[in-house]
Amino acid sequence: MDDEALRLAVYSTLAATGRAPDRDALAVELGIAAMDVDAGMERPAAARHVVLDAAGDVVLAHPFATSPLGFAVMGERTLWWGGCAWDSFAIPHLVPDEPDVLVSTRCPGCDAALAWVVDRTAPPRGDEVAHFLVPMAQVWDDVVMTCSNQRLFCSTECVDRWLSASSHERGYVMDLPTLWRLARSWYDGRLQPGYQRREPAQARDYFRDVGLEGPFWGLS
Ligand SMILES: [Zn+2]
Ligand SMILES: [Zn+2]
Repeated sequence: MDDEALRLAVYSTLAATGRAPDRDALAVELGIAAMDVDAGMERPAAARHVVLDAAGDVVLAHPFATSPLGFAVMGERTLWWGGCAWDSFAIPHLVPDEPDVLVSTRCPGCDAALAWVVDRTAPPRGDEVAHFLVPMAQVWDDVVMTCSNQRLFCSTECVDRWLSASSHERGYVMDLPTLWRLARSWYDGRLQPGYQRREPAQARDYFRDVGLEGPFWGLS
């Protein structure tokens, strides 16, 4: 059983259709028994390529999600769930057949509808901000909770309103250009064979290069 073939089958179906392939479809595509798909999926999950629920179904294959986490990402032909602000801004960089996508969400601070056309050439216009709650060192403690709290807001006033209503400490606030640069190349290679996740030191270099700073990102 080829783990990399399984990972690629999940990712390529999500990229092309916005939906994860089911067990039977994966078994047919890979020429294996359906029960071997479940066992095989545990290794990409252990390697953090996919996040599974208790039933063994794919919840997240970053930047793609299989259920609503606050973001819809619409291309000309395909509709995706974005796992978070970071993921939603990353999807256009992984789907070259789409010239751009519409990322839509609601502001957690005031419930206003927010939307941007995001492409691969430049950050979208707008004064809105992203707020990430969970520092990078703790992202994988509960990755679904982490993604659920990487959101886009009208303004820092809306971030503060949401923080006080939800009794959270402030995480990290960035503008749209910084979010776009963070998302642009983070998932490079995920749809190709042999993808390797970044080592922590490489991740820190990437964060620094896109203009992030401070202990939240593991930077001094
Ligand atoms: Zn708002
Ligand atoms: Zn995410």
